[in-house]
Amino acid sequence: MTRDARQRRHRPSGARTATFFTAFITTFTVFILAALLAGCLFGGGGDAGPENGQDQGGETVGEVKIRWYGHACFLITSPGGTRVLTDPYPGNMGYGNRRFEADLVTVSHEHFDHNSVASVEGDPEVVRGLAGDDWAQVEKTVGDVTVWSIRGTYHDEAQGSERGKNALFLIETGGLRILHLGDLGEVPSAEIAERAGRVDVLLVPVGGVFTVDAEGATRVTELFDPRIVIPMHFRTPAIADWQISDERPFLEGKSGVKRLGVAEVAVSADTLPAEREIWVLDVSP
Ligand SMILES: [Zn+2]
Repeated sequence: MTRDARQRRHRPSGARTATFFTAFITTFTVFILAALLAGCLFGGGGDAGPENGQDQGGETVGEVKIRWYGHACFLITSPGGTRVLTDPYPGNMGYGNRRFEADLVTVSHEHFDHNSVASVEGDPEVVRGLAGDDWAQVEKTVGDVTVWSIRGTYHDEAQGSERGKNALFLIETGGLRILHLGDLGEVPSAEIAERAGRVDVLLVPVGGVFTVDAEGATRVTELFDPRIVIPMHFRTPAIADWQISDERPFLEGKSGVKRLGVAEVAVSADTLPAEREIWVLDVSP
């Protein structure tokens, strides 16, 4: 009795185990199918990537401040507080004897109204777009800012024979790409624009004579296709004796013009205007 009884007792128990196992497999399969279906229906919606501006190669999206000191000189302050100064000018230019402060200085070319590194306090990193008679290849990271030089543009429409070469600087921080055109004197090739890639904010000279004028600046703007255009290198009351034009011819007939009445704006990658806007800044006191 003992052996048979044990076997009989065990038989139902084995059957219960088999039933439980089948139920488990069925439930598990249903669960996996449901998960796969949910993945098909809802997957992909939560991805962060460069296309939706949430993640730019590990950089944090945040407010980037852009302050204009007149001419081609801007102070760009990153979300992390890194200060980039573009094309500083000397005290004898008309904008007063200023002392700038910066962590990184870009120099588009070696003319006095763009390369006054001596006007900058402290010991900033300085990157020069030209090296001797040639363009320099620059890529520099300081804090949460990276700047690249874009080689191949000139200060005139005669391949540099009148005023030499010029470098563009692409400044990337906080998920924003800001392109400073220096003393651009010509409309660059499509290949240059391709190398620049996406441009969110374009700092473009509009005064003519030494740089592109209103018409040239308009073509340059179309070429780089930015969301925000900030005109620079035009005549202001401080440099009233300069023979360059003021900003009005460039603004004429354009939509999205905003005279902001301030010298500094904060720009964020996730709040860029949907349609292109032209922001006219006051010269910083
Ligand atoms: Zn200049």
